[in-house]
Amino acid sequence: MENISRIKEKCVGCKSCEQSCPKHCISMVENKEGFWYPSVDEKSCIECKVCLKKCPVENTEFHRNEPHKVWAWRNKNDVDIMRSASGGAADSAAKTILQMGGVVYGAAYDEQLAVSHIEVTDEAEREKLQSSKYVQSDPKDSYTKVKQRLSEGKTVLFTGTPCQIAGLYAFLGGNPENLYTVDLICHGVPSPKFFKKYLEYQNKQTAGRVIYFNFRSKDKRGWGTQYLLKTKTKTKTKTKTKILSLDRYGKHFMDGDCYRESCYKCAYANTSRVGDLTVGDFWGIAKSHPSFNSPKGVSSVFVNTEKGQKLFEMMRVLAEVEEATLEEGMVKQHNLVQPSNRPVIRDTFYKSIDEPGFIKNIKVGFQPKARLKSVLPNKLIQKIKSL
Ligand SMILES: Cc1cc2nc3c(=O)[nH]c(=O)nc-3n(C[C@H](O)[C@H](O)[C@H](O)COP(=O)(O)OP(=O)(O)OC[C@H]3O[C@@H](n4cnc5c(N)ncnc54)[C@H](O)[C@@H]3O)c2cc1C
Ligand code: SF4
Ligand code: SF4
Ligand code: SF4
Repeated sequence: MENISRIKEKCVGCKSCEQSCPKHCISMVENKEGFWYPSVDEKSCIECKVCLKKCPVENTEFHRNEPHKVWAWRNKNDVDIMRSASGGAADSAAKTILQMGGVVYGAAYDEQLAVSHIEVTDEAEREKLQSSKYVQSDPKDSYTKVKQRLSEGKTVLFTGTPCQIAGLYAFLGGNPENLYTVDLICHGVPSPKFFKKYLEYQNKQTAGRVIYFNFRSKDKRGWGTQYLLKTKTKTKTKTKTKILSLDRYGKHFMDGDCYRESCYKCAYANTSRVGDLTVGDFWGIAKSHPSFNSPKGVSSVFVNTEKGQKLFEMMRVLAEVEEATLEEGMVKQHNLVQPSNRPVIRDTFYKSIDEPGFIKNIKVGFQPKARLKSVLPNKLIQKIKSL
């Protein structure tokens, strides 16, 4: 039948089709790996093709713009930059829109540490969106809510992976004046099931419950890829920090052998951007702008549209900024050039996900460079990087 079923593995999981079907005959079903895909109740389908029209895989050219300015960004607020993944640019955009009385959508943990897109309407909730959650965020019904808020005349900011932003534009069928979008440089997403299994493993290991997980903690070693995990038992609360690549989950996120299939053919892994702004880690800052570098983190901000320029002007009061070139912003940003490579091990990675020892059997290997990095003082690492 002529409906969304034909998208198959190209599906990015944005849920626009599910939210659009006039007959409500699309449900999102989790496969064995833990990624959701549309399933159509063919008996109820009237072949209206609305789902195909609203799918970003069918509409890849939606709002694609080359960046016309690139900035290095460091949030001036110490608390906010420390809680953010890089320089707190996405957070500054959120703060700006909330101050205008608008609403913000982004990825947040729930009580069980499952990640989904939520609506934030006040300052106190903004914290939930800070920092990167390296797992696919469930868009749930966020597109429907955005549409509702836009029709109420609210200013809306939507933050997320480029495919989620593209899904939103396809869902809305246009670019309303009161909508701003921020996309992330993105190298791919592991399945929520993999992250859930990992948390269960950590619970077992600590005979407690993981109550906090920050993939990009700066508390111990500053800006980098180090996580902080907090577990609670009956008697105490413990914290643990580790370099991501030395961890069972983090290693595979970094290696890119556990991503959603669509990530290996990502249509957004280039400089033709979907969001009004694009944000990422300014990994090349130590070399290109050494005096701007900071252990608290530096974001790269790519201004892609006129609306992006307007948002940038409104939020720049919150940060120290320095203009950079596109080439400087692209240093160590493989995913602005091409999608992540699909390693052969991806074929079998999720094979034993339902078996009891799945996480325990993951080997992280010796990795001498990462182990050395984890014991060297951060200042020294920064010095080496700048050379
Ligand atoms: C899966 C993933 C892969 C990434 N890959 C790269 C990369 O290859 N190179 C690079 O430079 N940067 C990458 N990033 C972006 C980077 O980690 C930071 O999010 C970015 O630098 C913004 O930092 P910030 O300090 O401005 O944002 P913060 O102020 O910390 O805000 C974080 C923002 O990210 C959004 N977010 C967090 N988790 C998710 C999620 N799972 N799905 C959708 N949105 C989410 C939140 O809604 C929020 O707007 C990736 C992020 C994710 C989630
Ligand atoms: S073709 Fe129409 S009725 Fe059928 S699944 Fe798509 S949106 Fe629903
Ligand atoms: S990409 Fe989005 S709209 Fe297209 S099939 Fe997948 S969930 Fe549906
Ligand atoms: S790599 Fe591409 S397809 Fe995968 S989550 Fe990121 S933007 Fe979406």
